[in-house]
Amino acid sequence: MTNLAARRLLLVHAHPDDEAIGTGATMAHYARAGAQVTLVTCTLGEEGEIHVPALAGLAADAADQLGGYRIAELAAACAALGVSDHRFLGGAGRYRDSGMMGLVTNDHPRAFWQADLDEAAGHLVEIMREVRPQVLVTYDPNGFYGHPDHIQAHRVAMRAAELATAEGFGPAKIYWTAMPKSVLEAGMAAFGESSDNPFAGIDRFDDLPFGTPDAEIAARIDGTDQHAAKEASMRAHATQIPASSWLYSIAGNFGGEFMGVEYYTLAAGERGPGSGPYGWEDDLFAGLAPEAVGPAAVAGADALAESGAR
Ligand SMILES: [Zn+2]
Repeated sequence: MTNLAARRLLLVHAHPDDEAIGTGATMAHYARAGAQVTLVTCTLGEEGEIHVPALAGLAADAADQLGGYRIAELAAACAALGVSDHRFLGGAGRYRDSGMMGLVTNDHPRAFWQADLDEAAGHLVEIMREVRPQVLVTYDPNGFYGHPDHIQAHRVAMRAAELATAEGFGPAKIYWTAMPKSVLEAGMAAFGESSDNPFAGIDRFDDLPFGTPDAEIAARIDGTDQHAAKEASMRAHATQIPASSWLYSIAGNFGGEFMGVEYYTLAAGERGPGSGPYGWEDDLFAGLAPEAVGPAAVAGADALAESGAR
């Protein structure tokens, strides 16, 4: 207990690589600042496509070894982010990648989509009991873009937070990953003329499955000084993100901001002080009372228990 870092951040993601693409800059930012950063990944990503030709035989419909391989990719990605505490929900292999919505893989007996909510949440509650995160990060109810494992990760994280709160150690704040509409709009405008346009075929940004009005964004985490760490963590997921991906070409064109700035909505807890037209926080721990940020409360309880014992 007394070894807990002052600031403790728990992130719940669906597959290896989601942590890097969605929250890599945030994770590197807080790890570098000395916060305890704990990553929980819910599946091994067994159903992912494989972009490394030599590893194509690992695919789910062939040797079905991709999940095990991705454990190593995730470890390398976390090392790039400076994050040493990464775990799989219920242990590696407990829950299987469900594949895209509507596929027969959704029905696999170990598919995360089939998970019993309270059992899955129970695994996360045990991690919360140990780590005592003040801040929890996960996806919105649509799983950011509708993948069943992302939707399930949201449900499990929110249920676990509810159970942990009932036991007295729930997170003070819960954030959901988000992309402001203004950022999407700027990206679409910038790429409209490009031959390598990731938004090709999409006429209006309102047609995208994600995008949050700027006024609903609560926090903007500026990890531009960590953009190299985020890019390295993405490159560690080589089976999933081809070296030729437009993600890297955008990063080359736009520099650190594209890779390094990440946005969140606040789903629970009180918003802290912020700035700009919408009062965006620049810190996920903003506004938390000093006694909440720090081992003081826990250490104090230990001291009380000790003095009471004497
Ligand atoms: Zn995913």
